Amino acid sequence: MSSQQQSVPSYLHADDLGPWGNYLRQVDRVAPYLGSLSRWLETLKRPKRILIVDCPIELDNGTVAHFEGYRVQHNVSRGPGKGGVRYHQDVTLSEVMALSAWMSVKNAAVNVPYGGAKGGIRVDPRTLSRGELERVTRRYTSEIGIIIGPNTDIPAPDVNTNEQIMAWMMDTYSMNQGQTATGVVTGKPISLGGSLGRREATGRGVFVVGCESARRTGLSIDGARIAVQGFGNVGGIAARLFQEAGSKIVAVQDHSGSLYNSSGMNAEALLEHVAKTGGVAGFAGAEVMENDEFWTVETDILIPAALENQITEKNAGKIRTKIIVEGANGPTTTAADDILHDKGVLVIPDVVANAGGVTVSYFEWVQDFSSFFWTEHEINERLERVMREAFTAVWQVSSEQKVSMRTAAFIVACKRILMAREMRGLYP
Ligand code: NAD
Repeated sequence: MSSQQQSVPSYLHADDLGPWGNYLRQVDRVAPYLGSLSRWLETLKRPKRILIVDCPIELDNGTVAHFEGYRVQHNVSRGPGKGGVRYHQDVTLSEVMALSAWMSVKNAAVNVPYGGAKGGIRVDPRTLSRGELERVTRRYTSEIGIIIGPNTDIPAPDVNTNEQIMAWMMDTYSMNQGQTATGVVTGKPISLGGSLGRREATGRGVFVVGCESARRTGLSIDGARIAVQGFGNVGGIAARLFQEAGSKIVAVQDHSGSLYNSSGMNAEALLEHVAKTGGVAGFAGAEVMENDEFWTVETDILIPAALENQITEKNAGKIRTKIIVEGANGPTTTAADDILHDKGVLVIPDVVANAGGVTVSYFEWVQDFSSFFWTEHEINERLERVMREAFTAVWQVSSEQKVSMRTAAFIVACKRILMAREMRGLYP
């Protein structure tokens, strides 16, 4: 890098880069393993394109509110940008940049032909009526419409966005284009070109890599003790699949509290309870425990499937498990990673463990293009194959180079991205 270049972009505070800073540290850990491709490393430290948009809407009370929106395309060397849209009052540009970069890594790690992108709006959707939510979604989609499209950048759901929001995004983009373009977003309702199996895909992927990790470490899934943080789309489905395979769900935590049952909870009944009441609290089939205690329960597999930064230097030392499968994005801090590594806990990183969602999003996009839809059985079979192949490639690098699965996943992914960069060359 020439002395005139700076990796820190002028639009972030150099002394507090936020999540983007975490991502940069992860990239630096991989640099020594990239060989001659390290020449292109700076590519990974610079998002390709950032769009910041103002989304004004009329509220139901007649006043006008403005919301800040982002779409970041981190890297498009391997294909169109791909990544979700997050609605949250605390969304920042740094966070969206980091999430877009993690999408580049995830998509390359599982070898789907996409680059990485992510979007967000600084809004608390719980404060909006349905009409206001639709208006802000449509305005945001129109504003970012200049850079998204079925061949350029394909959004999807993330925190606080869902099938309905994807339907509005698809409709808005299609209206502006003058033709129905189902492939512009994934995670759509089935009636609008969504894919069977998409809703369960991330939890299913967590289950598949959990089984692979167990197999390679000599752990039996039948009878394995499992703890799950977050009993939503990812955690709830993963728990159900583990239980169907004979595992025991001994501990569960969500925003409403923590539960314990040494003989295992009935995941199906707990899912029904959560659907009815909104949380795990009040479920009859388990004892209540303190939230801090959740991390100390002795288990075989621990699945963080809620939020970022849950496993930190404060609780990592107390964790008594053999394998951690990261259903959530970014649940483990770098400091906690090192503590777990020293304790001999096997951590399967988010960029592999939760890639089932984007994998079936890829299947959805392919089905939309061909207007030919697959059966759920075909989708699950293909998903399992992609997840197993990705796991195997990362496992191999981890064993050969004697690095953690996270560093190995970054090595596999960054090499793929930088190889594409090198083969394409610089233009002009
Ligand atoms: P969800 O909204 O369905 O579930 C989130 C769960 O987290 C809920 O059970 C909620 O109660 C729990 N939770 C919230 N705050 C908590 C707290 N303070 N302590 C403990 N639990 C808390 O969301 P989801 O789709 O299951 O996503 C969970 C994670 O997985 C997120 O990090 C998301 O980015 C990641 N992820 C999701 C997908 C997907 O396809 N849904 C794909 C990849 C990654």
